[in-house]
Amino acid sequence: MSSKTLNMSDALHAFLMDATIQETKEQIALRDATASHPSAGMQISPEQGQLMKALIAMLGARRAIEVGTFTGYSALTVALALPADGKLVACDVSDEYTRVGRPFWDQAKVADKIDLRLGAAIDTLDAMIAAGESGTYDFAFIDADKENYDGYYERCLTLLRPGGVVAIDNAIWGGAIADPSKTDSSTEAIRAVDRKAGSDDRVISAMVPIGDGLMLAVKKS
Ligand code: CA
Repeated sequence: MSSKTLNMSDALHAFLMDATIQETKEQIALRDATASHPSAGMQISPEQGQLMKALIAMLGARRAIEVGTFTGYSALTVALALPADGKLVACDVSDEYTRVGRPFWDQAKVADKIDLRLGAAIDTLDAMIAAGESGTYDFAFIDADKENYDGYYERCLTLLRPGGVVAIDNAIWGGAIADPSKTDSSTEAIRAVDRKAGSDDRVISAMVPIGDGLMLAVKKS
């Protein structure tokens, strides 16, 4: 929805980009390659990527999940932050979109950390749970079809270890969550998962108004 943080002036955004964003040349090149895409707004903002890198480092994360890869900038960013033996399971339905990013994963030498699984993410996550991987992941990023957000949230929470973090993207949805006249299925689904994570006894949550809103939920022990 937004490639930069809501209500941020161009001057402030330019300062952030210049002073606080540490992108590799492959991240910059992949952002450039995605910029002309008709759905380029689906890519996360660089400042959000920077926050996710810091979260990976804070968690000491080795195993991560991504639901919704698009052209691969967020996967590249997470993979860069993971240690050499780290793994990211990246779920997406589109070969066409993810094909844009794969050459940049190679160039950045992180392709071997990214396990791209094409298909419905609900099925992929269910298969991971069935394979006994519950409680073994450190970080999950959800940024896919909004109608399935609750299903992704529940499955990612199951797959996370205590202390692991699930990050839910587009949690502000351009402000639509606070507009009662917006009752489309995507808005309702985001509103519901925001409220759920915001009052869920299983997690400690915080809404971060970066990009289009990132809801963080830390799994309690
Ligand atoms: Ca998004």
